Amino acid sequence: MNLSYWELDTYFRNIDFLIIGSGIVGLSTAYHLRLKHPKAKIIIIEKGRLPEGASTKNAGFACFGTLSEILSYLETNPKEEIYQLVERRYRGLQNLRKLLGDAAIEFQELGGYEVFRSEDQVLMEKSLDQMEEINRWLFPIFNRETFRKCERNFGFKNTIGTIETPFEGHIHTGKMMRAYLRLLNSSEVSVLNNLEVKNLTELNSKIEVELKNKFRFQASKVFLCTNAFTSKLYDLDVVPARAQVLVTKPIENLKVKGCFHMDEGFYFFRNTGNRILFGGGRNLDLKGETTTEFGTTELIQRQLETYLREIILPNQDFEIEHRWSGIMGMGSQRNPIVRQLSENLFCGVRLTGTGIAIGTMVGEELANLLEPV
Ligand SMILES: Cc1cc2nc3c(=O)[nH]c(=O)nc-3n(C[C@H](O)[C@H](O)[C@H](O)COP(=O)(O)OP(=O)(O)OC[C@H]3O[C@@H](n4cnc5c(N)ncnc54)[C@H](O)[C@@H]3O)c2cc1C
Repeated sequence: MNLSYWELDTYFRNIDFLIIGSGIVGLSTAYHLRLKHPKAKIIIIEKGRLPEGASTKNAGFACFGTLSEILSYLETNPKEEIYQLVERRYRGLQNLRKLLGDAAIEFQELGGYEVFRSEDQVLMEKSLDQMEEINRWLFPIFNRETFRKCERNFGFKNTIGTIETPFEGHIHTGKMMRAYLRLLNSSEVSVLNNLEVKNLTELNSKIEVELKNKFRFQASKVFLCTNAFTSKLYDLDVVPARAQVLVTKPIENLKVKGCFHMDEGFYFFRNTGNRILFGGGRNLDLKGETTTEFGTTELIQRQLETYLREIILPNQDFEIEHRWSGIMGMGSQRNPIVRQLSENLFCGVRLTGTGIAIGTMVGEELANLLEPV
């Protein structure tokens, strides 16, 4: 890099806190570090021109898990752990809304719906059988019935029923990230784009950072907010999981409004204005979708279009306007890893499919790992 003295001095010297990754966790970490350390030099390094992971690519569901997902978690995890997971997601959403404001993120509490396809009879019966018990169990979190059978007709075909919750909504993901950047602009945090960190070396009291272009500099404390890409820098239980999405052109008299989940969360769709945003289908090719490469595949895009035609918009003409993908960070557990890895290295990663709900909170927890000065 051909840097001037001024550029070196302003961005690459005497860095107190270096955050790698400008997704929701990186931005939240920077914000919460600034609250506690008003004079620190805080720099965020991001490999993409825009954030290049999941935070600007997601579906914008402000959600905490469908009834069938919660039941499936309960099959393999202690009850107390799952209760805390749901509570954390719901409280996390309140934190995000409070921090950025509903208007700035275009939060709309339109409700969440789990749609059961014709082949989901067993899953639906099991969910309905246990719904009351789950509602009683979750009552202290929501103070109201969490799930109920939905009688509304959205015009779907080849479905056998829907379970709804009033506590979900959707946001405008791009505006959420822009609102975060606005907060940071006034906090003197610099985001440096198009710079990929290749290596971290622990020195005595600092960490040496090497970029892909070979440029090296040092920082006192480094925070890995690299989610799906973490294993390239540090060996942790984080595995990339690509998720593909499409959005239709505007559809006249669209009845579908809210956040919809299908097939235990493997498919998700919502309206954005009068368009349908539809994503998922990773379970069609789990191996192929375990990748950090962006891209869409014919197999999954074809299935999304089939479901649009046969289930979601059976009586309407539609055209696809745009397709994209994002990369989530998964692992053997559903909880994020928020941890001090060494004296000067910290991480907040593995946000799974719930970063909108818990990303703000994870950034706060990560900033709190630091000893007060
Ligand atoms: C298609 C899709 C739909 C989703 N839908 C929802 C949803 O509806 N609701 C929900 O709650 N969650 C959803 N998620 C998940 C959610 O988006 C993520 O959990 C969340 O964005 C993770 O935030 P993050 O900051 O941890 O990671 P990211 O947003 O991935 O940020 C990590 C950043 O680190 C950067 N980076 C990585 N390595 C390096 C490096 N070496 N050097 C420099 N920079 C680096 C990346 O470029 C990236 O910008 C979805 C995800 C996808 C992909």
